[in-house]
Amino acid sequence: MYIGIDDTDSKEGMCTTYMAKLIIDRFGCEGYPRLIRLNPNIPYKTRGNGALSFVSEGDKDEIIEMLVKYSHYKKENTNPGIVFMEKIPLSLKKFSLKALHENIEIKDALNYIEKNKIDYFALGNKRGVIGALAAVGMELHDHTYELIAYRERSRFGKKREIDVKSVIEMDKKYYPLVFDNYDYRNKHLCIAPNSPCPVLYGIRGESPEILEKAQKMIKSEKIDKKQIFLTNQGTDMHLVTKRISEVREFDSVILRGEVSQNPVTIEGGHVIFRIRDEMEIFCAAYEPTKEFRDVIRKLIIGDIVRVYGGVKYTRGLTVNLEKIEILKLAKKYEIRKRKCECGGTLKSKGKGVYRCKKCGKKVKLKGIEIKREIKEGFYEVPPSARRHLSKPLCRYQKQQQS
Ligand code: ATP
Repeated sequence: MYIGIDDTDSKEGMCTTYMAKLIIDRFGCEGYPRLIRLNPNIPYKTRGNGALSFVSEGDKDEIIEMLVKYSHYKKENTNPGIVFMEKIPLSLKKFSLKALHENIEIKDALNYIEKNKIDYFALGNKRGVIGALAAVGMELHDHTYELIAYRERSRFGKKREIDVKSVIEMDKKYYPLVFDNYDYRNKHLCIAPNSPCPVLYGIRGESPEILEKAQKMIKSEKIDKKQIFLTNQGTDMHLVTKRISEVREFDSVILRGEVSQNPVTIEGGHVIFRIRDEMEIFCAAYEPTKEFRDVIRKLIIGDIVRVYGGVKYTRGLTVNLEKIEILKLAKKYEIRKRKCECGGTLKSKGKGVYRCKKCGKKVKLKGIEIKREIKEGFYEVPPSARRHLSKPLCRYQKQQQS
């Protein structure tokens, strides 16, 4: 039977992967359990909007007892859900894709359950059934794996003891077959979460065999359990190519456009600019994206780019950049003469057009072409700022080679 679970954890502890692991240890599991990341932009998530599914012949009542025992259902915003299915309705694929790309209402998920006579159990407002259903039904065309090592119960909530040097050695040995382990520039250990959850670390990679080898190199506090999950992490499955006019809040999109407003750094160190096709939209490289912002700051009006990211409503619909492809750099000119005939200051409007701040007159000036400080190509946020679903460029390169 297929089992799907979601929403068992709270900010104070637990993790739905751990819940799945407890059930798997008790009843077994056929193949690898799946860790399916859903819409990363919805507001209800605790952290990474992950849901779990696996095939097991466990006893339903006992599994439900475990869910009640271990989940944080008494906490606000924790609404556990579990589904049991002998067969997967064809329509579940569509439902799952909707959970990845859109916002689903709880009542729609419950209607789906009723219509398809699906066996389920849920607590609180029952939101967890959305992820539980989607985790079972999601069809994957690309996947990676994550090996998660769990802490001993007595260590939950305490500082994690992981030898960073051993992680770097492991990363150097196996990258790019493993990825996003360590952020060298920002000296950030990416494999360990910051929350008080049972996870000690998670290593991401292309195959279970590599992950087993990689894990053996990591020196850390004692591990209680470990489990390899098959996952849609690192696949860019959340992204949909759209025109700006089609973009809605909570989407994750790929948009092609021309830079229509030069980047500005705002309070908090976030860098904001605009792109346009027939319409215009804001794009943002937020402060946690660190050195990625240096690339963004070098864009100018007229550059042709393809942006990748999640959409939130802040100053207007804004694409929170995960990656950018600079397709064509505009020519940049330096104008020596900066004054209008009337004596006013000329302000650049891009493409050699200037407007006088005093009299408003527009003039086209041809200056000396100066070298751009960036090159055309792909740029991504550092591993420390990477979203679970975002495909690292090393995976693009690897797939192009094979
Ligand atoms: P963790 O990553 O630690 O497991 P989380 O970030 O996955 O935590 P959850 O605790 O699973 O967060 O909460 C996410 C909630 O949102 C779940 O109840 C899930 O069913 C629900 N959900 C998932 N996708 C959607 C969606 N597209 N629309 C509406 N609700 C959704």
